[in-house]
Amino acid sequence: MRSISKSTLQRLPIYLSFLKQHCDSEFVSATVISKALSLNDVQVRKDLAAISSSGRPKVGYCRCTLILELENFLGYNDNENAVIIGVGNLGTALLNYEGFEQYGLQVIAGFDIDESKIDEKRKIFHISKLKDLCKRLNIHIGIITVNVEQAQLCCDELVDAGITAIWNFAPTHLNVPSYVHVQRENMAASLAILSRHIKDNKNN
Ligand code: NAD
Repeated sequence: MRSISKSTLQRLPIYLSFLKQHCDSEFVSATVISKALSLNDVQVRKDLAAISSSGRPKVGYCRCTLILELENFLGYNDNENAVIIGVGNLGTALLNYEGFEQYGLQVIAGFDIDESKIDEKRKIFHISKLKDLCKRLNIHIGIITVNVEQAQLCCDELVDAGITAIWNFAPTHLNVPSYVHVQRENMAASLAILSRHIKDNKNN
């Protein structure tokens, strides 16, 4: 994968969603995208140049080509399978959410320690089956939605099962080997920005 910054990477899905849902012209320029999304023109130009060389001066990008390039770069065509540990409130919602498929992610099973939650017809298995299923189906992505006290233990189980990318919803730091990437969904960080915005507005 070409090396690009994390902030560029996080903007790419936003461009893709705009191109697919809110733009129907054959060609589109970085200026049009930046105006529509209230982003900096130079930034958008640089981001697109990092993943595509199909843009033409004064014409812009062919919209369909750019969509394909973004999807390829983001791996949306690779169809990765993922598993969830902890099928409580959040885990159930994520397990049942069909929208991940448009991002090439298929959540194929959930695992829980609580016997009352096990329901193999609904793809919910006992945690003791995690390693076998992940190895057999060559799964690389694990999602953690257990309570914070259990998160490290579940993380270790995922690593032992061969998982190399972890999406962590539990509000805690996880220790992993260097070849494993943890992406933390940090609500506290997002809320801090909202709270700061409200405070700043009140002070003005
Ligand atoms: P929950 O209590 O409803 O679900 C947790 C599930 O994890 C339970 O089903 C439990 O049996 C299972 N579990 C616990 N230990 C386990 C283990 N060792 N192996 C397998 N399964 C195990 O909790 P929730 O509300 O779904 O929240 C889950 C996590 O997500 C928490 O860390 C929470 O802070 C975080 N979170 C929740 C929300 C939300 O909207 N509910 C939002 C953001 C983050």
